[in-house]
Amino acid sequence: MSDFPALPYPWQQEVWQGFIQQFSDNRLPHALMLAGSPGLGKRHLARAMAQYVLCQRPVSESACGKCKSCELNRAGTHPDLIQLAPAEPGKAIRVDDVRALTEAQGKTAQQSGYKVVTLMPAEAMNSNAANALLKTLEEPAADTLLILVTDAPSGVLPTIRSRCQLRTMAIPPNEQSLHWLTPLVSGSGHSAAELLALTRGAPLAARDLLEGDALDLRARWSSDLIQLTLGQTDTLSVAAGWQKGDGRAVLEWFSGWLHDLACWQVGAERARFADIDPGLTSVLKGISPSLLHRFQEKLLHSKKLLNSGANPNVQLLLEELLMDWGVLLRARAG
Ligand SMILES: [Zn+2]
Repeated sequence: MSDFPALPYPWQQEVWQGFIQQFSDNRLPHALMLAGSPGLGKRHLARAMAQYVLCQRPVSESACGKCKSCELNRAGTHPDLIQLAPAEPGKAIRVDDVRALTEAQGKTAQQSGYKVVTLMPAEAMNSNAANALLKTLEEPAADTLLILVTDAPSGVLPTIRSRCQLRTMAIPPNEQSLHWLTPLVSGSGHSAAELLALTRGAPLAARDLLEGDALDLRARWSSDLIQLTLGQTDTLSVAAGWQKGDGRAVLEWFSGWLHDLACWQVGAERARFADIDPGLTSVLKGISPSLLHRFQEKLLHSKKLLNSGANPNVQLLLEELLMDWGVLLRARAG
């Protein structure tokens, strides 16, 4: 955690103001669900909310950063903040951890009035963990705030979703993202507009592309896909290459690209289709929209599987997906 206390990003102001208002009116729900595309700062917002609620003397719109509770939060040792997450990315949240939460809920808060539980990603619960959580939601303890964070609310049990107040984060207006991102990427050799186009307008995802070799991986991914689509390489070697990296990032890029493609096919959002290659135009134009839609559904299913903590065989999953992509392209040719 670099900044303390965490302050919401500019595009989160509306949700944040609503939250502060609910808190000061004593109308906070027992459970909140923050949902939206990856790269919008939902985890950061959940942290800001937790710090604010636990702070003993919040200043006008943030935690004070000075009280005992804030000190504990800064050190990451606040006894009234429970953070549930998979032990490793891509793994499931364990049912034992969720059960421990139910026990902890029965105890009184040690520092301030509130206890806060953050659970992310909420789609990474198997059915045992989800059912254990459901019990907590059905018998909410007083002065406890549960914050669930998810990229894919449809991957969360409907009975859990319906017991949470939903806060959906939209992709911010391009102007706002450019304003925020431009100073952060100056001197990088890349423009904010270019990076935002690659992440379909998600500002944090755009910023993170400059970390490590993310941009190179993104470029290699795009070139693999173009070559495969043009029939210049084969499914198995592309799948093997993609599997070595972060499978979830690959699927995220792919689904964003397909979305852009679908928009481009109907003549909308042309400027945002960052990876269009002149050689590809005729191939992509010929793809049937209904087959494309079906393929998008399949990709969504693969993404869910990968994020659910079910631990699927990533290589196999990518191979199947790319073979389907090949089938779709051949259907066009036929
Ligand atoms: Zn404080």
